[in-house]
Amino acid sequence: MKITIIGTGYVGLVSGACFADVGNTVLCLDVDSRKIDMLNAGEIPIHEPGLDKLVATNAAAGRILFTTDYDRAVAHADVIFIAVGTPPDEDGSADLRHILSAARSIGQRITRPIVVVDKSTVPVGTADQVRAAISEELQKRNATTSFTVVSNPEFLKEGAAIEDFMRPDRIVVGSDDPEATRIMRQLYAPFSRNHDKLIHMDVRSAELTKYAANAMLATRISFMNELANLAEALGADIEAVRMGIGSDPRIGPHFLYAGMGYGGSCFPKDVKALLKTSVDHGRTLHLLTAIEKVNEAQKSVLFDKITGHFGGVDALRGKTLALWGLSFKPNTDDMREAPSLVLIGKLIAAGCKVRAYDPVATSEARRLLLQENGEEACGRYLTLCDSAADAVSGADALALVTEWKEFRAPDFEQLAASLAGKAIFDGRNLYDPALVAAAGIAYHGIGRRGHN
Ligand code: NAD
Repeated sequence: MKITIIGTGYVGLVSGACFADVGNTVLCLDVDSRKIDMLNAGEIPIHEPGLDKLVATNAAAGRILFTTDYDRAVAHADVIFIAVGTPPDEDGSADLRHILSAARSIGQRITRPIVVVDKSTVPVGTADQVRAAISEELQKRNATTSFTVVSNPEFLKEGAAIEDFMRPDRIVVGSDDPEATRIMRQLYAPFSRNHDKLIHMDVRSAELTKYAANAMLATRISFMNELANLAEALGADIEAVRMGIGSDPRIGPHFLYAGMGYGGSCFPKDVKALLKTSVDHGRTLHLLTAIEKVNEAQKSVLFDKITGHFGGVDALRGKTLALWGLSFKPNTDDMREAPSLVLIGKLIAAGCKVRAYDPVATSEARRLLLQENGEEACGRYLTLCDSAADAVSGADALALVTEWKEFRAPDFEQLAASLAGKAIFDGRNLYDPALVAAAGIAYHGIGRRGHN
């Protein structure tokens, strides 16, 4: 099939490469010419494991192409995916500017029947708005070309995006048109081979499903974080509690980790947008208000532990803190709403020097940290290091922020020798407190018994 993807970011590029890999001809469009130039030069603008090889193979075979030219992109396809960003607006709702701009661009150009697929995460009713925007453009040029708008939310996880797309748990298709549903089934058949993973429903339910999934996941995180803080006060260990409850199949072991609060490009904005939708419809989801509140508070927990250890915020002045991990989770360079940004901001404001290391997110982190804290403060207090060992050298303590594989099993004796101050703040409960203590290092985890 001939497919166009509008928006060549994490979702658009991964989807495009995976559709190309099963034999489709995919044209990826973006308004960001820097991204398209990079892709046309064989470079990948984001870090996603395996994506470079997948794109290179399919580009060499002529199955994936990149453009900024809307005329070419719309003329190319039978099916057009919209995968542009839907950032939060000032009032928390999803900003549909990019979605509707893409829809208008399609409406201005289509000359034969097509299926338009909303892949971005969009509030219930967006498909109607996309349909209206396309119709309006058709009317302006007295055209009567038929088209269908389908909802197909994406559930891939950054860091495991290719695996998730190639072997999805489910493929949600919201469509009220049998022919469009048939085309979507055909398109996804290669990813649905061992059993039918496609769940067909009406458009509005599909749109809500994506928000419901992310809100549920955010709920689990905030629940565990709040429970961890209670466990700490009670002298219980959240890691033992996690295993104790996760073995119940009604609860399940996944996504039950206490930590520094959820971040990333999806959960914070999707929780906000769903909450706003519920308020707008007079059915406020009170749970979501609490989930957000807990998450905001949790982003400060590690900083509070650090100040507690050193004897107050003033005592941080002139200290040096090593930080391992900057991206919001491992295996991605995505820094959107990363908890590291909050922690570093607070440390810098307290006059604490930060020596941070991340395997891939350093340059994006530098850009955002400069933007948020200013050049002067960053110049004075922030060093982005080339290795984990470099970051800890001579530091007064280490904070583990993102659980990248290379941080999982450090040599604690060596770490103790490198650190000037013997303390680890484990924001992901990655380490065995007894092992850390055996190396003569004070251990502070999230909700760990006797080690906080
Ligand atoms: P992204 O910011 O990485 O990519 C979006 C791209 O769209 C950018 O490259 C931008 O330049 C481009 N764009 C904006 N306006 C455009 C226009 N009018 N025409 C063409 N291109 C345009 O975003 P993302 O992380 O890929 O997310 C895209 C959507 O998918 C969002 O709604 C997000 O919530 C959803 N989603 C994201 C993930 C994820 O893990 N990142 C997972 C599932 C769903």
